[in-house]
Amino acid sequence: MVAAQRALSSDAGYIDDPFAAPLVRAVGIDVYTRLVNGEIPVGDYAGFDPARMARGMAVRTRFYDNYFIEATRTGIRQAVIVAAGLDARAYRLPWPDGTVVYEVDLPDVIEFKTSTLRDLGAEPTAQRRTVAVDLRDDWPAALREAGFDPEAPSAWSAEGLVVYLPPEAQDALFGNITALSAPTSQVACEFVPDTTIFKDPRWRAHHDRMTELGFQVDFDELVYHYERSHIIEDLIKRGWQVQHRPVAEMHAANGFQYADDEIAQAFGDITYLNAVKG
Ligand code: SAM
Repeated sequence: MVAAQRALSSDAGYIDDPFAAPLVRAVGIDVYTRLVNGEIPVGDYAGFDPARMARGMAVRTRFYDNYFIEATRTGIRQAVIVAAGLDARAYRLPWPDGTVVYEVDLPDVIEFKTSTLRDLGAEPTAQRRTVAVDLRDDWPAALREAGFDPEAPSAWSAEGLVVYLPPEAQDALFGNITALSAPTSQVACEFVPDTTIFKDPRWRAHHDRMTELGFQVDFDELVYHYERSHIIEDLIKRGWQVQHRPVAEMHAANGFQYADDEIAQAFGDITYLNAVKG
């Protein structure tokens, strides 16, 4: 789903991810294939707007792209993409020579992306090292085994991940990242202050219309709703200096108007944050 949105964003010219659409087609879920092929009629479904998806994903993708590039400008040469999914940054960003990009995800996901991109003739633009592991297991050990050096500064991303973790796994994630991060390391992620937005009637109405179009993901069932640590406060306590910006401001910074309808309001509290250790 995220890769499909990146494909829309690429088609609109907002980002350049030539691998998003081929990856979506290779996955082969009909509704997403039709979405990237422009075959889903917008029709009367007022809440469904591919142009809006393209803008929203452009904001998100540019945020993480710029974050990593800026991190390498400070001399960082280790990037860790936690829950990398179908993210193709290891194949498309202009990483400086000597950069190692670690991609952590479940074994099936890693294998699928690696073989699909190989078949497409794609070449990594950094030293790409995969870490096929369940984040509920001892992933720091797997990361070190893959060559990660905790004594050298690193840049981490957890894009589109945290709401899919239970609260204790979220705490463990940032605890482990902190323990593995030398001073001046960086981390970036989104912060969704309130996951109950997926139960909000405004979102449910939108979800129902999407279901009629063939989309079968219900975020309400995917996310963990329990009370969880406030990521910004948690990172500050762990010794990080945090910068954060809400999604509407991020749209404005990218020259996009943030929609002012009910769905947009329901998601207005989502924040993008990046932090530096020490
Ligand atoms: N970061 C990518 C992006 O933004 O395109 C992927 C985001 S996707 C919504 C969530 C990712 O988390 C998936 O790739 C999924 O395989 C991974 N994931 C979820 N639970 C996981 C777990 N327990 N261990 C490892 N990866 C997990």
